Amino acid sequence: MISISTIAIKLLMLLSFGNIWISRDFDFFYFVQQWPGSFCDTKKSCCFPLTGKPVSNFSIHGLWPNFSNGSFPSNCNIAENPFNQSKITDLIPRAEKGWASLSCAGSKKTENNKTSSDNTRFWKHEWDKHGTCSDLILDQHAYFEATLNLKDRVDLLQILQYNGIKPDGNLYSIVNITKAITQAIGLEPGITCNTDPSGNRQLNEIYLCADKYASSFIECPILPSRKSCTDMVEFPIF
Ligand code: 5GP
Repeated sequence: MISISTIAIKLLMLLSFGNIWISRDFDFFYFVQQWPGSFCDTKKSCCFPLTGKPVSNFSIHGLWPNFSNGSFPSNCNIAENPFNQSKITDLIPRAEKGWASLSCAGSKKTENNKTSSDNTRFWKHEWDKHGTCSDLILDQHAYFEATLNLKDRVDLLQILQYNGIKPDGNLYSIVNITKAITQAIGLEPGITCNTDPSGNRQLNEIYLCADKYASSFIECPILPSRKSCTDMVEFPIF
């Protein structure tokens, strides 16, 4: 006779092997935007996409499912749900503007022998590593559309500039950067920094949090560490 506990164990095994239970759960999203000037102003060089130099504004790094304890799932369902750009054809013009890659990794030489970044490679990386972990809630089209919509809802550069914090190569206090964004949107952002070739810390990425549907900004259950930042950080020109 098959006992209830045997059935329960078989069900649990099915759920975990089917990858729908453990690894594809999460609590909230980090919506991460990067300052292109800081990505480019490091020892590693940066490359521009074929569409040319992006505008001087924050751009999307990604939408990352996260747990409230700070850990995060990754690479959850690539085999079954690989990146397929044809599913987001209608979103490409928006993604080219707001979600450009600046990385030279895997870059291609253009006809005039310039090196360009590869947007498709970046979007594929973000979908495979992060998006497949939230695909029970957002399919590929919904994931990319929700991310682009979040970007349209908050203009970080405008908020900072309104508070006198400009990408002019000067130093600004992390406290003031945080305060400006918190006052404007009512939610505290996370801030991470990187280092320029002279060793100065600079404003690199700004994290906002969104609910599991990526439809509303929420208070971050946990903020990324600010250890990478000094009290005053450079806001580089781009
Ligand atoms: P993550 O794994 O943190 O989601 O994304 C980082 C990866 O995306 C790295 O492998 C990096 O080379 C690639 N990548 C491509 N373009 C960009 C870009 O514009 N910014 C950042 N931060 N990473 C990029």
